[in-house]
Amino acid sequence: MAENKMEQGKLSIHTENIFPIIKKWLYSEHDIFSRELISNAIDALNKRKIMDSDVKQEDLRVIVDIDKKNRTIKFIDYGIGMTADEVEKYINQIAFSSAEDFIEKYKDKQSNIIGHFGLGFYSSFMVSDKVTIDSLSYLEGAEPAFWECDGTTNYSSGKGKRKEPGTTVTLYLNKESNEYLDFTKMRELIEKYSNFTPFPIELEKKVINQKEALWNRKPKDVKEEEYKQFYKEVFHDYIDPMFWIHLNVDFPFNLKGILYFPKFRNQMEMQRGEVKLYCNNVFVADNLKEFVPEFLMTLRGGIDVPDIPLNVSRSFLQQDHNVRKISKYIIKKVADYLKDLYNEDRKKYEEYWEHLHHFIKFGALTEENFYDAAKDLIIYKTVGGEYVTLEEYKQKVKEQGTATEADNKDKKDNKKDQLKIYYTSDDDSQQSYIKMLKDAGKEVIIADNVIDNHLFQHFEMKMEDVSFVRIDSELDESLIDAEKKELVDQDDKTELDHLKETFEKAMDDKNITVKVKRLKNKEIPTLIVFNEGMRRMQEIQSFMKNTDKETDFLVYHDLVINAENPVVKKVLKLKSKGKEEEVKMICKYLHDLSMLEQKKLSGSRFNEFVKSTHKILSLI
Ligand code: ADP
Repeated sequence: MAENKMEQGKLSIHTENIFPIIKKWLYSEHDIFSRELISNAIDALNKRKIMDSDVKQEDLRVIVDIDKKNRTIKFIDYGIGMTADEVEKYINQIAFSSAEDFIEKYKDKQSNIIGHFGLGFYSSFMVSDKVTIDSLSYLEGAEPAFWECDGTTNYSSGKGKRKEPGTTVTLYLNKESNEYLDFTKMRELIEKYSNFTPFPIELEKKVINQKEALWNRKPKDVKEEEYKQFYKEVFHDYIDPMFWIHLNVDFPFNLKGILYFPKFRNQMEMQRGEVKLYCNNVFVADNLKEFVPEFLMTLRGGIDVPDIPLNVSRSFLQQDHNVRKISKYIIKKVADYLKDLYNEDRKKYEEYWEHLHHFIKFGALTEENFYDAAKDLIIYKTVGGEYVTLEEYKQKVKEQGTATEADNKDKKDNKKDQLKIYYTSDDDSQQSYIKMLKDAGKEVIIADNVIDNHLFQHFEMKMEDVSFVRIDSELDESLIDAEKKELVDQDDKTELDHLKETFEKAMDDKNITVKVKRLKNKEIPTLIVFNEGMRRMQEIQSFMKNTDKETDFLVYHDLVINAENPVVKKVLKLKSKGKEEEVKMICKYLHDLSMLEQKKLSGSRFNEFVKSTHKILSLI
């Protein structure tokens, strides 16, 4: 047996504690040993394909063999193999010194490393007590070579048993690494890291990997069906993507990739994008925002950048000139594609909008390079059911000449030519406001997503000529009956004062400002008007979920009493009859009703409301 011919050796090391460091390597990163060993196997297969003209394509493969009983994992390849000299050179010297360099360089900033290229073969010691190599070089007359190391600096080498050219690396797992004996786990790792390697990888006699990354082909050579099929297989989705962008450049940098725009079924999916970065078909990292700006992370796809250096670190990526160029290039491609789609088929674009809006808005907010394109691509549905861009909204207002005194008033406050864009955050519960504005010929857009609040703020900052006003945050002058307004100024001041006084007394709440108006629409008795700024603060607060010290900004609001409404008139009548109790109850009740419409009546307040309803009914 080879055993008695075994030679002992000592790895020459400069970093005494290299093995403990390798073993303790970032726990979450232990998985990468499989990528490193498979990559080595793939390299060896590539070399064999080039150098050995006799080799058959179907023999070029990697087998991952798990033996649960003996707690080993074998990585078997039919690549170029190594002679004993080569093992000495590549494993004992080169591989070891590069692992050593790697550790030296990064031991203080482990968390900054992406991809861990270069740790290579020695990463197997993160999960193993012992590793053996049995290799037969493809060269004529070569002898199999055996190597063994138990994670100390001593190794043994001798004659191996391999009969066919190639290499078998056997890991004797340490007791912390049992999870890798699980087929499902190993399958996941292969799919994650080595999905697009150019040779088949078998686990339990089944080929696991995809083999070909579609982005490596020229766009003109790929059929629509192939794009869809690839998407479904790689991202495990059963719904076709809406569309995709195939990136393919050689200059000034090398980049290939596909970005898919999925059809989202819910909010959750929107937040869980998957844009993977590869280097020569080997997975490096997910959602790397240095390459792919954050807003594009809601998409799915892969980008292969062969020129990223080994030992990629985050700080390197942040400084690298090319990386920034790549990111800019991707943004531009996406913006151009969307612009074309918008210009060529607006109808289709509108159909896609519900799946697109989140990411375009997020892009406009977070990515300066995307904002200019995005601002013209953002559309809002009006309560009338059509879609408008901000520019179109402005145009409409100008054409209709519906800019009112309220709009113009701001000019005096130095905000030149400001135009109000009215929006509703809930076209269901804000019905009365919508109807009033509609009657006054105003256009109202629906903005019911949290991101809209942030976006409006952003637009107001960027464009000086617009301000966004939620329809319940101020009472537009156009809603007030102009004829009656005249009257207000002259004769019936006392009636209005009287109403104001009555409601103020009934409410008995300093946070509520009572205002009495004569509205064109007689049907509405009272309205709540929340100040836009206060409401935005409230929204930001609930967005941050800072429940500890939550301030209810909305306790401060205006209660607008419509002196034209019959119920309100009745209040005055009851008052003149001295029915103070009933007056108080009805005033409060009207306030509650308006709060209810705003969905701001909850818990005990709601119970009280039901009780008062009963009381009021008993008056009939
Ligand atoms: P790297 O792959 O980055 O060069 P490794 O430490 O992973 O570093 O491997 C060192 C060297 O050992 C490789 O460059 C290769 O020459 C040799 N090697 C490793 N694994 C194999 C294999 N499965 N077949 C043939 N040669 C291998």
